[in-house]
Amino acid sequence: MARRKKVYEGKAKIMYEGPEPGTLVQYFKDDATAFNAEKRATIEGKGVLNNRLSEFFMTGLNAIGVPTHFIKRLNMREQLIRQVEIIPLEVIVRNFAAGSMAKRLGMDEGTALPRPIIEFSYKDDALGDPLVPEEYIIAFGWASQQDLDDIVALALRVNDFMSGVMFGVGIKLVDFKIEIGRIWDGEFMRLVVADEISPDSCRLWDIETGAHLDKDVFRRDLGNLTDAYTEVARRLGVMPTNVTHTPKPTLIN
Ligand code: UDP
Repeated sequence: MARRKKVYEGKAKIMYEGPEPGTLVQYFKDDATAFNAEKRATIEGKGVLNNRLSEFFMTGLNAIGVPTHFIKRLNMREQLIRQVEIIPLEVIVRNFAAGSMAKRLGMDEGTALPRPIIEFSYKDDALGDPLVPEEYIIAFGWASQQDLDDIVALALRVNDFMSGVMFGVGIKLVDFKIEIGRIWDGEFMRLVVADEISPDSCRLWDIETGAHLDKDVFRRDLGNLTDAYTEVARRLGVMPTNVTHTPKPTLIN
């Protein structure tokens, strides 16, 4: 049988050539990595959950007029996406201090920020994705000032949408990361939300208990990651059952 051509393999996803020019198939693996891939594990069911959750968020964003690369989900682990030229930045939006920001500034995790704060890291695993000022981004030509203005506007819309959706199910959106891609239409270029939006790339805290429902469960050994992601999916009505804990078929006499 003919195999599809692999275009790229990252830490959590694989990209294959899509059925039509300008499309790709994005496959979600069960692999989890943290601390620049120093910590690794295979977590059964994670890929299935992230495929569904990313579909849910991207579909919602498309519906409110925030353009994304998402076209449609194909199966349990794959989705059809528009091929984009990825801007080599991690766009991080923070509503509450946590993670590297809390550490850098000596703040308590969970401290409310005066307004959403956006920061950029340069996507380079070998360098550990260093934080970069806008000055570098423009000087090195990764994005123009106009692109950055558009990226900030997109990121804030994603933040409002995601914060609202999460608040509706009792979850606080502490921070998240998105990636932005360019789509060319002749000489015209559009910026779209690309990659994925899932608990791998967000910090999600239960509003009542403060429980972590995101990748920090893996990073900080706080429990079962699939259970945490399943809880997010269940509350959003995305996937009501735990894919990894379904009972095995039993013989009926
Ligand atoms: N994040 C991500 N990929 C990265 C780095 C960060 O998805 O390579 C997300 C992370 O899950 C969190 C937010 O971006 O929701 C801010 O992460 P932070 O800078 O605090 O880094 P961390 O503490 O995760 O190293």
